[in-house]
Amino acid sequence: MLCPAQVSARRESVVRALTTPDLASIVDLVVWAEVAAGDLSGQPVAMAASHLGRVRLHPDGSHQVLEGLDPIASEDPMAFLPYERECAIPGPRTSRENAYPYAASRILSLFADRARSPDVAVVHTPGHFFPEQGGHVGEHGSLDVIQSRAPLLLSGRGVEARGVVDAHARLVDVCPTLASLCGVPAAGLCDAHGHPLDGRVLTAYLKSERPAQPRVIGILWDGAHCGDLLELAESGELPGVARLIENGVALRGGAVAQFPSVTLTNHTSILTGLGAGRHGVLGNVFFDRESGERVVPNNASTWHRSAEWLRPAVRTVFEMVNSVVRRAAGARTACVDEAVDRGADYSTMAMIRDSGSTSGAAGLGDQLPDAWASSHVREKAHLADPYFSWCTQVDDLGLDQMRQLWASPESAPTLTWWANIVSDAGHHAGGPRSDIARDSLRDSDSRLVSFLEHLDGLGVTDQVTFLLTADHGFEGSDPALTGSWRPALDALQIPFRDEGPGFIYLLPDRET
Ligand SMILES: [Zn+2]
Repeated sequence: MLCPAQVSARRESVVRALTTPDLASIVDLVVWAEVAAGDLSGQPVAMAASHLGRVRLHPDGSHQVLEGLDPIASEDPMAFLPYERECAIPGPRTSRENAYPYAASRILSLFADRARSPDVAVVHTPGHFFPEQGGHVGEHGSLDVIQSRAPLLLSGRGVEARGVVDAHARLVDVCPTLASLCGVPAAGLCDAHGHPLDGRVLTAYLKSERPAQPRVIGILWDGAHCGDLLELAESGELPGVARLIENGVALRGGAVAQFPSVTLTNHTSILTGLGAGRHGVLGNVFFDRESGERVVPNNASTWHRSAEWLRPAVRTVFEMVNSVVRRAAGARTACVDEAVDRGADYSTMAMIRDSGSTSGAAGLGDQLPDAWASSHVREKAHLADPYFSWCTQVDDLGLDQMRQLWASPESAPTLTWWANIVSDAGHHAGGPRSDIARDSLRDSDSRLVSFLEHLDGLGVTDQVTFLLTADHGFEGSDPALTGSWRPALDALQIPFRDEGPGFIYLLPDRET
């Protein structure tokens, strides 16, 4: 093991190597947590550096610039709004032009897991294009506001009809809000050790009285771009979303994702109300120093194993709701096409576990419906993209599960969670506002409309409370901004791992 002084010295050399001007086109920020020299509290504080300067981010929100310019020039969660402003300057933006909401608390959370947190995290510039290391045309993962901005809508029974409002929330607010709507009292909104969640109930948008027999449906459109989703809904192109907004509220600033703004970290935050450092799913890929294992939770072959990576104090929203709901028949909670399913009475991932498939969902492709036969695909040419095609199959099967779960009002679960993924495929393939990204939103909306019509047929639509969100936003990269920071790290000649890439773990010197 490295001693704290060695970690500190090596981290400093990593930070210096990554913040040279020649890497500025691909390295936006380098972030870490450290105990400030002379601070007797022993509490770590969040740090950020770029080629421009270095800042210490104090928990009270103040910025102590230690060198040069403050690389976190703004933390405004409402930056680049209204949406025309984002479109007018679509980026890539420099860190001085950008905004990083809740920078201190989000950075600190990433570094709160002793075994799994990296020693340093590298934030790619919004423009960085790195297909050779798994990057895409459209990308997410950054601390910045656009990649961290997911849509957030509340609608239906118990929700104030306010339309689109100039406000924002955080994705950790989703779990307590869903749980509260399902009847979990305030005292029940806590982790397994009784500690408060990181999120809070979005009471500002809810009516004070709660229905006696709640029916709550949480919908996730993976990677759906907040601004574009609202614009398409307001211009009549997403009638399902528009209908939800008409009967509820949508936040113009969406919900801020946890850092990194990647899928499994945020699915877990959404469904536990905790930041990454408390729930333990640090990234889509991370290293666990205790087990010596490289963990890849965001993979078709591992989604069904999500519970293995949750830290002991975690409770999922399904566990919170099941602890208070008493029902004579039917599932209390259901979880459709979602990795983070622990505790749900019905779960797609449970069926995958029960199937005995050794490669999880990846081994069950032949069970999926034919994408070409889907009635929800607006542009069949997109099916040439294998990821888009597979997501279409999964989402069509998800809609089938939703109809079965909601076969009758009596059998319908108290809480139903419904994840959809084709929006992630569309945005990765073309970036926000591309034809394929917009069509992925239209396809998702087509499935939503179909399900709302199913509820209309049952005559129960106005009895249901809906929440629609995503796990992160998206930005378009610049094909010219390629390259890797790897040679700069290799030149230091110290042992390290770089997972992601972007999570740098310092390793002990090899014994000779
Ligand atoms: Zn995602």
